[in-house]
Amino acid sequence: MKRLSIILAVAILSLSFFQESAAKSPLIGVSASENSPAAAPSTYIKSIRKAGGVPVVIPMTTDKEQLEKILATVDGILMTGGEDIDPLKYYGEEPLRAQGEIVPYRDEFDCMLIKMAVEKGLPLLGICRGEQLLNVVFGGTLYQDIPSQAKDSYVKHRQQAPSSYGTHSISIEKGSILNKVLGTERAVVNSFHHQAVKDPAPGFKVIARAADGIIEGIQMNEKVFGLQFHPEGFVANGDDTFLPIFQYFVEKANEYQSGKK
Ligand code: MN
Repeated sequence: MKRLSIILAVAILSLSFFQESAAKSPLIGVSASENSPAAAPSTYIKSIRKAGGVPVVIPMTTDKEQLEKILATVDGILMTGGEDIDPLKYYGEEPLRAQGEIVPYRDEFDCMLIKMAVEKGLPLLGICRGEQLLNVVFGGTLYQDIPSQAKDSYVKHRQQAPSSYGTHSISIEKGSILNKVLGTERAVVNSFHHQAVKDPAPGFKVIARAADGIIEGIQMNEKVFGLQFHPEGFVANGDDTFLPIFQYFVEKANEYQSGKK
């Protein structure tokens, strides 16, 4: 009887330990965006939550110690969309007349955050501007303005439709994160950009393209990737077509968290 109760106690203890470690939701740092340097659009927040992660906004800063502290706490980084990136400073091109608004402080913050997070081995998902920055940080270039620079582009990439409504198709590379996660080689996505990845950074793979050849997704490895479209626009509005992207990302963050112990 005594032995049985010991066995039972051990079983209950190990079960509760397992449940505790499995139930921990990873902390996802979401880069601040828009005009407020300490806030991020709720669409990103909602999508991370729906996928089982715990989102926290990372306020803009270029203080390395502050960022190190934050990066020691989070299990994944989501880089949000936004303004254009300074072409001269970040990929050595004079600004074209069609270049849009630049926010120098945000450029600096975002680039530091990406560099430090990837160096640390954190999973990172870049969306729109986040994808473009990921490419630029590792030595790639951008189209500053698709309509005036990409000669063969004919697809409308600045859609005039709700963000939860897809307007152009993409073809997805076999074996890529996107292909594995969505289980398809074709999807219809939303599109709100006039810039795009031109030359992918060394070591990056193109994982999706629009019908006109414009790059719609890149990946560095199995946990660092970027998308030109906005999956959060669908998920936050109740369309779960692209929820598996966030679930995959949160799962990678979960793996990272387990490895920290
Ligand atoms: Mn597009």
